[in-house]
Amino acid sequence: MDVTFFTAWIQEIIRVLSINRDLLTRLDAAIGDADHGTNLDRGFTSVRQALSDTPPDTPGQLLTLVGNTLIRRVGGASGPLYGSLFRQLGKSLGDAPEVSLDDLAAAFATGLESVTRLGKAAEGDKTMVDALAPAARTLSSAAREGLKPGEAFGRAAAAAAEGAKATIPLQARKGRASYLGPRSVGHEDPGAASAALILSALHP
Ligand code: ADP
Ligand code: MG
Repeated sequence: MDVTFFTAWIQEIIRVLSINRDLLTRLDAAIGDADHGTNLDRGFTSVRQALSDTPPDTPGQLLTLVGNTLIRRVGGASGPLYGSLFRQLGKSLGDAPEVSLDDLAAAFATGLESVTRLGKAAEGDKTMVDALAPAARTLSSAAREGLKPGEAFGRAAAAAAEGAKATIPLQARKGRASYLGPRSVGHEDPGAASAALILSALHP
């Protein structure tokens, strides 16, 4: 997978986040402050601009640029968290022009670590980690089993979607939604929903 593959992934993320902007904002209205969809849409619109201003040469450069742009442009908790995820993906892939499923699975594992280092959320706390962690695990096992990337991405997207839906009955223990205590139960976490969309974009 080369820079063209990863550029297509990011373009697809931009597309699905923009289509789902109002849905994400509605989820955040229920247990947060109703800005998650607009936060991400603003961030990824800046990503689109940054990519056309300075088209990256490698997957690592591209993902680092995405991470830096999100950190700069997205207010709220999700900006630094997604920013650190993409920056770590970029760092992990280094300057290789082509990356394998093994490389990407390893990069996702370290990306997830940087999100949990920064946000201190564990699985079950009702955050984006509830979608990112099962996706990272699924990518790693798919790589170990020697699956083709397309199949691995399909499974990872399904695992992320399932993880996002599984946040509905949980009580939030991190982020703004945790201020609601038991009233956060019964709603899908917006960050878990956006993480599932980001994974689904790997397998459009
Ligand atoms: P804010 O909560 O500052 O308004 P957003 O609405 O953009 O930011 O993002 C909210 C999402 O961020 C939550 O739904 C949750 O998934 C994620 N989030 C918040 N705090 C954390 C954390 N400490 N660790 C991981 N994810 C978090
Ligand atoms: Mg919010």
